[in-house]
Amino acid sequence: MQCQSPTTPWVRQAGCRRVMGCSPVMARHTTFMFCLDPTVEQREMLARHAGAARFAFNQCLRIVTTSLTQRRIDPGGQVPWTGFDLINAFNGWKKTEAAGRVFAVDANGMVVVRITGLSRPSEVCQQVFEEAAVDCGRALGAWSGSRSGQRKGKRVGFPRFKKKTRAVPSFRLRNKHPKDGKPAIRIGEARPRSVTLPGVGTLRVYDDTRRLRRMITKGRAKILFATINHRADRWWVSLNVEAADLHPAHQHAPRDEADADGWVGVDRGLSAFLVAATSDGHEVARIGAPPKPLANGMVRQRRLAKALSRKQKGSHNRREAGARLGRHHHRVANVRAHFLHQVSNTLVKTHDQLVLEDLNVSGMLRNHRLARAISDAGWAEFARLLRYKQAWRHGAVATADRWYPSSQLCSICGDRNTELTLADRVYTCPNGHAVDRDLNAAVNLAHWAEDHQTSTDPRTPKHGGRATNARRRDGADQHPMCAGETIPKDAGTDVHTASAA
Ligand SMILES: [Zn+2]
Repeated sequence: MQCQSPTTPWVRQAGCRRVMGCSPVMARHTTFMFCLDPTVEQREMLARHAGAARFAFNQCLRIVTTSLTQRRIDPGGQVPWTGFDLINAFNGWKKTEAAGRVFAVDANGMVVVRITGLSRPSEVCQQVFEEAAVDCGRALGAWSGSRSGQRKGKRVGFPRFKKKTRAVPSFRLRNKHPKDGKPAIRIGEARPRSVTLPGVGTLRVYDDTRRLRRMITKGRAKILFATINHRADRWWVSLNVEAADLHPAHQHAPRDEADADGWVGVDRGLSAFLVAATSDGHEVARIGAPPKPLANGMVRQRRLAKALSRKQKGSHNRREAGARLGRHHHRVANVRAHFLHQVSNTLVKTHDQLVLEDLNVSGMLRNHRLARAISDAGWAEFARLLRYKQAWRHGAVATADRWYPSSQLCSICGDRNTELTLADRVYTCPNGHAVDRDLNAAVNLAHWAEDHQTSTDPRTPKHGGRATNARRRDGADQHPMCAGETIPKDAGTDVHTASAA
């Protein structure tokens, strides 16, 4: 099948999920985040919206706790629990005397109470209240799910009231796509660098919006909702986008079912951030020292935190010092995120089948000597990035069984050395083989995946595609229909192809 493109037609490849005529499959969810540049009035309006969201969340929670208490007296009483019920409960409450009343004196001198309902709700976009009620419903659902064991992960407590001083000011607005007319959330309407939100208006942004605008005009992206929050002394907007699949040239070609090779083991560590190797002992990537933003910024963090604690509570100086510390934390997070994106992009672009070990990160954090270094490395976040990026490219990320002793086995003969300590950088086996410790573990992980290829273990995903080391870079030579895709940026990393060990 040939794509009917005016300039450079490309042959439809195997594994291409597009239909004829290049109408894209919208199967990806991604987020575009822009830093806002609001005017003084807009800043107030954003703060008012965030305050309304917090208020609505707290009010919904109050309705729930009150009805829970009443149910103890009257077991037949209804407790609104889902987002839908809570929206209705909140809307019902909004018009009552509890929400707002005024005392008026009539002509005869009699005092009457006039129920006004929630005052001035029109100043804030109604969606903010609804979304806050939905959030409250989700929090309640998470708690009940966690209690009944249906929800995995850490225990979730009963939702708590959001405090004005502690909660991150934030609110959410849904996008509406009317059949005739413009969607509610628009990009670059008045000027290229702007975002238009329902009820808020057009806000200027600092960042370039071209990529997203281009995707929207090509019909390759659809904004679902916008979340606005205030962090590190700035207002940000996160646009949640449903986007088209990556161009087939950026996806891995599908593999044969019987093909059990081609797995690349990825061993994460603290001395080298990661070592990737194939099962035949070939080291394909070694990322040396990762940036340690938290450790490097510790002196500054201590100084800022001390300065903050010395300031008088409630003072202007304290607010300033708090903002300074917030900006520092934001920078630390950015440095870490940038590095993790670079490394994960490099890996998913060059290899279609990766194996990670199942690290018990939260358990390892209990080791106080290593906790800071492990948090600074961002292993769990790295695995998350790797999984979704590989899914976008139709590759595979497998997770080895937690009890698989990848660092104790010999990658050459398969013998086991249980006397290895963390300090031993070179693995030595009873048969006299000596391999670099991290490389040995990576090779073992690749072995694990090849052995478990045909197993029914749900953690071993389906086959991906062939490793495409020579991939077209995004640029001028791209297919015009796909020029605006959210391809992770080609960023220079210090990944190098090491010679065979
Ligand atoms: Zn050996």
